[in-house]
Amino acid sequence: MSLLIKNGRIITADADYVADIFIDGEIIHTIGKNLPVNADEIIDATGKLVFPGGIDPHVHLDMPFMGTFSSDNYETGTRAALFGGTTMVIDFILQKQGNSLHAALDEWRGRSDGNCVGDYSFHIAVTDFNDNTKKEIKDFIEKEGITSFKTFMAYKGALMIDDRQMIGLMEEVKQHGGLINVHATNGDMIDYLIAKHRAEGKLSPLYHYLSQPEVTEAEAAERFVDMSNYTGCPGYIVHLTCEGALNAVRNATKRNQKTFVETCIQYLILDASLYEKDLPTGQAGFEGAKWVMSPPLRQKKDQETLWAGINQGLVQVVATDHCPFMWEQKKMGEKDFSKIPNGHPAIENRMELLFSEGVVKNRITLNKYVEVACTNPAKIFGMFPRKGTIAPGTDADIVIFDPHEKHVLSAKTHHMNVDYSGYEGWEMTGKVKTVLLRGQVAINDGKCLLQKGYGKFIRRNKVSAIV
Ligand SMILES: [Zn+2]
Repeated sequence: MSLLIKNGRIITADADYVADIFIDGEIIHTIGKNLPVNADEIIDATGKLVFPGGIDPHVHLDMPFMGTFSSDNYETGTRAALFGGTTMVIDFILQKQGNSLHAALDEWRGRSDGNCVGDYSFHIAVTDFNDNTKKEIKDFIEKEGITSFKTFMAYKGALMIDDRQMIGLMEEVKQHGGLINVHATNGDMIDYLIAKHRAEGKLSPLYHYLSQPEVTEAEAAERFVDMSNYTGCPGYIVHLTCEGALNAVRNATKRNQKTFVETCIQYLILDASLYEKDLPTGQAGFEGAKWVMSPPLRQKKDQETLWAGINQGLVQVVATDHCPFMWEQKKMGEKDFSKIPNGHPAIENRMELLFSEGVVKNRITLNKYVEVACTNPAKIFGMFPRKGTIAPGTDADIVIFDPHEKHVLSAKTHHMNVDYSGYEGWEMTGKVKTVLLRGQVAINDGKCLLQKGYGKFIRRNKVSAIV
């Protein structure tokens, strides 16, 4: 099977030109002007932008939580991702404290393998670092192709590791060519504030936000950056939201340190005023629960910091932390914010939101857009150049995008398995039209043409602290 994309405007992290792309099987074969080739199928991309497939390196599909699961499974989640121009996701395996990393890998594979429409990989969250876990690290990197290790500085008793374990893990991961991802917030401070608010009867979603002030993130980011500097282990802060935390990374550059930073689309375009939909007006609403996630949404000044951080090269990745729950599930916390399942749906919306709010509004360039949504995730997580760019020899993961088409986001039309949208009624400029995954047309004319099982587990290479 061969395919020719004619006359599209190809955008990569560092190029912008009009050409044809000839795809043979799963791979881009040739790129050039007016290619004299015969192909089984031809797509005319005149007037369209042609990007590499998006990579969302932070999603939670079919994730067990408080006796329930996040509402997108591997099929619905990776399919919705494709509709939105994301051809690959990296999901998180969570080790159970007391069990091995391999037991967790087996459990997650039981849910994911054979069920994905789009390509996928895993990070493994190390929640219990001990002599046995230590022996598994090398195996994950060298045999399983899983080279990034997630750590939590919060959620004591469930996911958190202490600093002693963090240092030990960093030394082991560094030795074998891996990377530490971190949820950097100060769990003890947050637990204290949650308990205080609950004791005072302050139970609405607004208090989720007030229990995680900026300092809880800034303090943990700084501590993580210091530990990463001390051990020399490459570090990547997931879902960074605020000025204080980014300044910790910025300060570390003065001693020549590089820490990777991911933010998520919601932190760039939504702010904490959404929680005030619940301010006591006589009837306490619950709408703010749609945006109950950790860390919470921040202030306008933090959005400015994050956009600037992208352009300063301090923020390398825009992900989603996609972790959807149905409204019925969110209502588990109707009477107590601390019982609201954390997370919001965005896997399908990331590429269009970032284009419409970022490129169209002149906050980032087209090249920067591709860099943070496609290329840097591939580079940082050991998949470049197979993924994350458009070049001969790479996987033919391609998005054909109409930069002018206007449309409106809504739960009524999205493909994520969740009954609300955090962006209901948002008007977008720019729409994903056609998506290719390894040479196959995945999305065309608003339809998904691939079945579950097409999505492949992508083994990743060792990583370095340089991109
Ligand atoms: Zn997450």
